[in-house]
Parts: sequence; structure tokens; C-alpha cells
Amino acid sequence: MGSEEDWVVEHINDAFGFRTALKAVGGVRMIDSAQQLAVFENPTFGRVMILDGAYQITTADEFVYHEMMAHVPLFAHGAARDVLVIGGGDGGVAREILRHDTVRSLTMVEIDRAVVDLALEIFPEVSAGAFDDPRLALVIDDGAAFAARAEGRYDVIIVDAPDPIGAGAALFTPAFYAGCRAMLRPGGVMVTQSGMPFLAADWLPGHAANLRSVFADVAFFLTTVPTYTGGPMAHGFSTDDAALKAVPVEVLAERHARTGLRMRYWSPQVHSAAFALPPYVEAVVG
Ligand code: SAM
Repeated sequence: MGSEEDWVVEHINDAFGFRTALKAVGGVRMIDSAQQLAVFENPTFGRVMILDGAYQITTADEFVYHEMMAHVPLFAHGAARDVLVIGGGDGGVAREILRHDTVRSLTMVEIDRAVVDLALEIFPEVSAGAFDDPRLALVIDDGAAFAARAEGRYDVIIVDAPDPIGAGAALFTPAFYAGCRAMLRPGGVMVTQSGMPFLAADWLPGHAANLRSVFADVAFFLTTVPTYTGGPMAHGFSTDDAALKAVPVEVLAERHARTGLRMRYWSPQVHSAAFALPPYVEAVVG
């Protein structure tokens, strides 16, 4: 199709990348001195936002990542009232959390107000009104600084961060995880965006070790997001209660039935099976 300028290429590493046809270009913007944001349409993935050359979100498949980031910890916990999200400025994970009527407060700590504003302008359907929900408190701050102050107590913490580069690197340190653990109530759980085991074998082992240096029980679950190429992506599941990663499917099903929520990716069976790791992933996360 057409010439090269009709395609966007994401370079995953020096030897691997993938390209997507451009159908309509939303233009390229500098959202601040460090980050360059591009927005375009594609027949397969809908509206696509890439930041510094890396896919951040597409309207066609964002439900996969956001459902698993929100519903795995919430249904594993079973009675979460107060939730903290670090990052997640597009509002997708907030949207899924706030579908649970039992959640009474959601604190979102996002470093870049511009991400929230642009997501509201470009992908309002992703946050779907979450930022107007009276239960949501938006804090514009570095999540690492917030964790250092250990403000508040939460039943679930979700670290919806980029990979450990730039401002995101501060969300992968033992000090950050210690601050998060200090904010968790007994029986609480923290879930993290933990990269692609097939491609992130360079930093994932250190990330897993950092989590294990703070939490008594660290597991990982997997999600297959179409635009996150390189195989399934991993999510860290950190807690001091080892039982939380193995809630029986029947119990998950009862909890889900009480909510009446209709899902497109998460289910009690998918939740339970997601914790089964292929040997190559176990070798990376330890
Ligand atoms: N929901 C996205 C998706 O579907 O892939 C993933 C979240 S996006 C990649 C990462 C978010 O974390 C961005 O909104 C970014 O501004 C924010 N962020 C990065 N570093 C941060 C920090 N140190 N503290 C708080 N937020 C941060």
C-alpha cells in the first residue's frame, strides 16, 4: 500500500519492529519538552496514540489491558473500598475500577496533566466519564514522591506505568514498592504493569527481585494485548497474603455475579488461568 510515509513503524528493539498503515493522521504534538505524541487512525486498531515512538493505547484493544489491570486485583481482594492508581493518565483503568459500586474512593496519581487532557480530547471513550466521577481524586504528582510520603491507606494499588524509562523508572525501585506496601491495608494487593517477558528479559528479573525484596508473596499473571507485540505481557501481583493469587474460580464467579458487570476479556476462568506461566516466563520472573 502506498509509500513508506503511509505507515507508522514502532521499533521494539534494534532488530524488531512493526508497522501500521496510516489512514488519517491526528498530527504529531509535543506534549512537553520530553515526550512526542502522535495520533492516527487505523482500520484495524481504531484511534492510536503513540508516545516517543511506542504504542500507548488503541481504542480497539485497550479494554484487554485495562480489564485485567483492574478486575484481577479487585476480584482477588473481594472487598476493596479504597483504590490507588499510579499513572494511568488515559483513564482506562480508572473507568474499569469505578464500575465496581463497592469502590468508595479512587486516588489517581499521574505525573503529566497533559496526558489526561489529551486523552480526554482524543479518546474520551477510554475514560468514559471516570474523571467526572465524584469518587475519583486526581493528583498531579510523581508517583514515587507520593509513595515516599505514603499518603493514605488503600486496599488495592495499581501501578499503570510505562516501562522503566524516563519518568517511569522511578516506579520500579524498591523504595517505591516499600512506600506502596506502607500504604496497603492488611490483605491488600498491588498490581504492576510488568512488561513483555519475551522482550523484557533484560529488566524483568530485576523488577521481580525488587518486588520480592518488599512483599512476602509476588506472583505474575499474563494478558495478551493485540498491539503489544512479542507475546503475552506480564503483570506483577504483590501481597503479603499468598492466598490472594489463588482465589478459587467459584469464588471469583460468585463475586463477579454480585456485580453483574459484563466484560470483554476478564472472566473468572481467564483470571485463574492467567497465573499459569510458561516455563520461559517463569525463568524470567523467577
Ligand atoms: N493505560 C496505558 C495503556 O493502556 O497502555 C498505560 C499507561 S501509560 C503507558 C503510563 C502512564 O504513567 C502515563 O500516563 C504517564 O504519564 C504516567 N507516568 C509515567 N511516569 C510516572 C510517574 N513517575 N508518576 C506518575 N505517573 C507517571
